[in-house]
Amino acid sequence: MAESLGIDTKVHNLLAGYGGEKSSEILKNYQGKFDVVDMFSHFWSLEEAHSCLDPEVPPSRKSKSESERLRGEGNKAFQKKNLSEALKHYNLSILVAPHPPLDCEGEIINSPAVENGEVTDENNYEALPLGYANRSAVLFELKQYEECLKDIERAFQYGYPESLQNKLVKRREGCTTAMESLEGRPDRLVTYHAVTPPILASPNSTLPALSSSVKMALSPTAGRYLVAQKEILPGEVLVVEEVYSRCLYHQNLQTHCNSCFTRCLIPLPCPSCKMVVFCSQVCRMKGLSGQHSLECPILPALGAMNTCLIIPFRIITKLPISTLRSLLAQFRSEKDGKSPLALGFNEKGIYDPTSYRAIYCLVTNKEKRDSRTLFTICAGAFMLTKLLLRSQRYFVDDSQKPIEPSREDVIAIGSALFHHIMSDLSNGHHYGELQISGSDGSPDIKKIGAWVSPTLSLANHSCDQAVITCNKGSLGVMVAIQLIKPGQEVTTGYLRGYGSQNLSLRKEILMNNYLFSCTCRPCTEGWPTFNQLPDNYQLKCCECSHFINRSDNKCSECGLDYSMDSPTAFSFTTMDQEVGLAILTFLRMRRDFNMNTIVAKQEDIIATIKVIEKMDRYAIMPNKIYANAKSFLVGLLRNQTDYVQIKRGF
Ligand SMILES: [Zn+2]
Ligand SMILES: [Zn+2]
Ligand SMILES: [Zn+2]
Ligand SMILES: [Zn+2]
Repeated sequence: MAESLGIDTKVHNLLAGYGGEKSSEILKNYQGKFDVVDMFSHFWSLEEAHSCLDPEVPPSRKSKSESERLRGEGNKAFQKKNLSEALKHYNLSILVAPHPPLDCEGEIINSPAVENGEVTDENNYEALPLGYANRSAVLFELKQYEECLKDIERAFQYGYPESLQNKLVKRREGCTTAMESLEGRPDRLVTYHAVTPPILASPNSTLPALSSSVKMALSPTAGRYLVAQKEILPGEVLVVEEVYSRCLYHQNLQTHCNSCFTRCLIPLPCPSCKMVVFCSQVCRMKGLSGQHSLECPILPALGAMNTCLIIPFRIITKLPISTLRSLLAQFRSEKDGKSPLALGFNEKGIYDPTSYRAIYCLVTNKEKRDSRTLFTICAGAFMLTKLLLRSQRYFVDDSQKPIEPSREDVIAIGSALFHHIMSDLSNGHHYGELQISGSDGSPDIKKIGAWVSPTLSLANHSCDQAVITCNKGSLGVMVAIQLIKPGQEVTTGYLRGYGSQNLSLRKEILMNNYLFSCTCRPCTEGWPTFNQLPDNYQLKCCECSHFINRSDNKCSECGLDYSMDSPTAFSFTTMDQEVGLAILTFLRMRRDFNMNTIVAKQEDIIATIKVIEKMDRYAIMPNKIYANAKSFLVGLLRNQTDYVQIKRGF
């Protein structure tokens, strides 16, 4: 995934301020051969950058009056029996209601009464319990009794007025009665479906997240890549690892839990900001003691940034400054002396996908980037560094008190951010969630954020990819979608592929975003797009890969005779029967396949795998049936993941 950083205008304005001559002079300091530390250090010394690129953090203050207004909207919808609308407004009313601070157990630190000073719109906690109480009314109507009871308890916990408590006590009794009867088990608003996570059958001894069927190799032109060392069948799981870092898109911050990324319809708020939601008390405490606590004060600026900036921010802040400082120094000293094949491996020779070392050693393509791009990426790192300083939660001492960092520390962190933005532009993925669309019930993977993980990033691109890489919840997974012979490269796809994008478009996207010229088969042989692909298959010669004539069973190129089965090759008739039968079975299954199927039947997956495998062995490529089967398999494999089903209308 590569895209612009969304800061082009800011960078343009900064350079324009210098004028043509001075700005070209400045840009000379940004070249692929230069060190990231020197480039970032230069940027940090640009006085104008400190005024021009200091990111503004719009206030994200909670407000009692705004919460009351939203609760009023909720009440109107509730009276009209528009329950989904009422729930939406009560959720917002809870998010924006001033909230007492919580301790690490989730208990209120101060009682709702503000101790010293005057009560203002921002620290008056009265709206919060009222929001919970009203939401409990919607949940009661929706027969979500368990959730209703939780909200009633929260209303009491946060100081629901005594004069109104009777109503809530009655509702609580109503819940208990309903739960005892059959009526108490109605449709849930959100139903979570979990599938067994994919497992690596036989892990590689030095790359534990990679299958032993695959190894890492090095090419002078394409760098590190993955290659099969055993025959791999379509459907075989090749990588399973926890994603190293992930983030939500800005538009999903209030629909998905900030800790576990699950869709939530009955969210809990952050006590300080109104930007994010949590699905449960456990996730909220995890966020408040970890990632979110660092981001909370700056999220109005950070959350709106491009994910290619947020992921590096999250990579850096995963480790405390003291640890990061020494690791960076160590890696930088090692990097020059090490063979590219050893990069990312620890002292024991293991490529640990949970280590900062592995993520640090992913390619950045620095050398291929032009001055202006490097300057822009450096500007992104500059803005993130400014935000880190602004948050006052990263540069801290042992007792978590903010400190004034040394220039050296600022440059070290800033240049690491610079490094990771380049890396993310080349290695980032979209974070997908399987959603069941309300209208026709068909499953669909929707992009809700971004992620990166180290082992998956070792696969290079082909316009006819051999594997899919995707996330299944918090796991990064790679699965083969074709037969991969020993010695053959294990390739993934950075774009949609030859079937849907023509050669010149692919070349343009790959050069602009990934900085290389593709040499895959579809590109070098000029394969047509999907609609122009041949429907009929031809069998190929196992010696020279040219087609075998159906009329005389001889290879059209080398003349090899395929009239009879031999110890080294099947006869034309045998191959033809195998391929023909696999195609027939697949096409029949495909005809009857209901596109609303969420979890496909095992036999349907097998029929798809079979036709791909047989055609990979015996047929000439490209071919329409094969391409169709491959993209169908991608859909089936992607849908094998946890999902949430939302009650219709919500
Ligand atoms: Zn959660
Ligand atoms: Zn917050
Ligand atoms: Zn290509
Ligand atoms: Zn031949």
